Amino acid sequence: MSEAIPGWSLVVHGGSGVIARADLKPEQDTAYRAALARAAQAGAEVLRVAGTALDAVEAAIRVLEDDPLFNAGRGSVFTADGRVELDAAIMDGATLAAGAVAGVGRARNPISLARAVMERSDHVLLAGAGADAFALSQGLDRVDPGYFFVERRWRALEKQLGREGLAIPARPAGGSADQTLAALAHDEGKRGTVGAVARDTHGDVAAGTSTGGTTGKRWGRIGDSPLIGAGTYASNRSAAVSGTGEGEYFIRLGVAHAICALVELRGLSLQAAVDRVIQDELTALGGQGGVIAVAPDGQMAWSFNTSGMYRARVADDQAMTVAIYKDEA
Ligand code: ASP
Repeated sequence: MSEAIPGWSLVVHGGSGVIARADLKPEQDTAYRAALARAAQAGAEVLRVAGTALDAVEAAIRVLEDDPLFNAGRGSVFTADGRVELDAAIMDGATLAAGAVAGVGRARNPISLARAVMERSDHVLLAGAGADAFALSQGLDRVDPGYFFVERRWRALEKQLGREGLAIPARPAGGSADQTLAALAHDEGKRGTVGAVARDTHGDVAAGTSTGGTTGKRWGRIGDSPLIGAGTYASNRSAAVSGTGEGEYFIRLGVAHAICALVELRGLSLQAAVDRVIQDELTALGGQGGVIAVAPDGQMAWSFNTSGMYRARVADDQAMTVAIYKDEA
């Protein structure tokens, strides 16, 4: 793909999973494409005026978190006890600075909270109530749990708990989202996540990922998204990567870091590296999912072994491409 130097490039994803053409109604297909384009546009606007990759990643992810169609921020899936527990991470490829949060429930934009952890704390990963308290101390946008509520996600929880033979918890109050739009949310099969990777005109890369995790999760389950090296990684020596898929497999393969290592230490092209880890290693282990990636020289890549992945890419010298299904560009 693009080799433009100097230039900028950005790729976003809105989750992978069971997303075949036959599964999405035309109005869902249209709504998802429009949302992905809005997010990519928000990131591109930052990069076009020589903003940083980090700012672009945060801007794009905030758009996806605020959109009830995606399993991140508003529209997140519910835990078995009917709450949201959100995970997010962001990483700066120029400095290897990173910040992440796991199991948070009050920050409107977990990606901005992850960035605050990176920039305003001595830590990389904060979890649960402590992370929510940190958010409060930093004056970040705080919302009531009802803000995240989307009817279709609740129904997905009821279905999931039914399958597992578990009790259905009391329905939380809420529903501030535009429920007409939210009604278009598609159930990708328990999962979903959003992410962005960018390379800016200074040649720096950054990656970010944000998710509600998996429908009906229990016991404080944390996925790969907030784990640096698993669902998120960025280094100017190799690439910036954001993943989506069955977190338990991504964690064991260290997917995002493995891709960067193949680029840095083995000299693979970005596309070859993402395909090696997703099509070969993830598939061999029995896991499902995908990644998006950019390299400091402007290469962009994506790879997934599911029927679809919501995704978009754009660069200074390339018009935006928005795609959902496997057979698209
Ligand atoms: N990777 C996410 C998790 O395991 C879910 C997803 O991307 O679909 O929490």
